[in-house]
Amino acid sequence: MSRLNEVKPRYTSVFESRYEKLYTLGKGNFGKVYLAEDRKSGEQYAVKVVDKKMFKSGDQKQHAQREQIICETFANGLSHKNIVQVHDVLTENEYIYVVMEYADGGELFDKIKKSRGLAEPIARRWFRELIEAVEYIHDNNIVHRDLKPENVLIDKTQSIKICDFGFGNVVREQHEVLSTYCGSPFYAAPEMVTATPYRGPPVDLWSCGVILYAMLTGSLPFQGDEMPQLFQKISRGQYTVPSYVTPDASDLIQRLLCKDASERITAKDCLLHPWLMPPSNLRCSFLTSSQLTLSSRLTNFSTRKKVGVFSEGSSLSMSTLLETNKGPLKPNMVVSSATSMEKKSMLPSSRFFMRIFKKKSQVTPMDGTHHDEKRIIKSRFMGRFKGFFRSSY
Ligand code: ATP
Ligand code: MG
Repeated sequence: MSRLNEVKPRYTSVFESRYEKLYTLGKGNFGKVYLAEDRKSGEQYAVKVVDKKMFKSGDQKQHAQREQIICETFANGLSHKNIVQVHDVLTENEYIYVVMEYADGGELFDKIKKSRGLAEPIARRWFRELIEAVEYIHDNNIVHRDLKPENVLIDKTQSIKICDFGFGNVVREQHEVLSTYCGSPFYAAPEMVTATPYRGPPVDLWSCGVILYAMLTGSLPFQGDEMPQLFQKISRGQYTVPSYVTPDASDLIQRLLCKDASERITAKDCLLHPWLMPPSNLRCSFLTSSQLTLSSRLTNFSTRKKVGVFSEGSSLSMSTLLETNKGPLKPNMVVSSATSMEKKSMLPSSRFFMRIFKKKSQVTPMDGTHHDEKRIIKSRFMGRFKGFFRSSY
């Protein structure tokens, strides 16, 4: 038969010609993560598709560029058993495609939520893997800045894989001081919520402390009905560890949730901590329900929220925050706004949090009288922050 009669499928992009999208695994601000199949090998991958048209500001563009650089670094040689491996990064038209190893066991978030806390042996194993991954990125001068159970995946061998370098950065050296305040509020370090220039690695270790607390208790160490309350607790390092947490685990949590970043334990020292030593020889290849379920320890591990990023280098006035935000922190609420006098007296970072509340209020219909103001607030918010809110429960 003549070759001319062969019907060749026509693909709209090089990506499409190589991979077939199967279904959506997750949704981000600038696109989606798909399960995709290599058309030739039949191999399955997770592909993060970033739509550059969605960027509304230089900040957002910059963060996407940083994520791309970090992913390319991984695609070009960096590799760790507990970090999602990047196979390829393609840029085509308005899209960036990050082709990654598919971690098919879901998010740590769902494991904690479902079991309302993990039994100590599996928490120890997973936490050790998490810290090994963090040590590796820090040794390679990369900081993650958005470590949380939603960004920690489980693979088919029940091992940890960290993902999402959307707020990551490459530093020249580990002592470099940064001033981009970003991440997710419940996991943010005191220096982050008080807008104090900070070193990257300790910020990641703080988030790991929150993750460890969540793993062992099924709840979060710092909670508040309002963002200012939450940030006040974080900045004061105000939390309690339930008495059923073993002394060694509790000691490690304290070393991680140490207010003073310069005193906070490093990833290397963490791996030498008695709670993680000797290296876990518990090779749990699968988890029984009794290993996962601790039904008595449940409170409110309930929040998927990302605040965003601001970088004005201003210090945060907690009292201003407390004065100006009055509504409870709930996903679908209309939040009381500050008067124009209050707005004038607010520090830039306080205005940042006001806008977060505004952003939250956007999901609820508001009265139609101040279209311009709403438009300006919306465009300013979108212009400066990568923030979005994923709430559950
Ligand atoms: P952004 O970069 O805008 O912050 P995001 O947080 O939505 O985006 P990711 O965390 O990278 O982006 O991915 C979103 C979700 O997609 C993850 O929380 C996870 O559930 C799923 N996902 C991402 N990468 C993988 C992967 N390699 N394997 C399996 N699932 C994945
Ligand atoms: Mg994420």
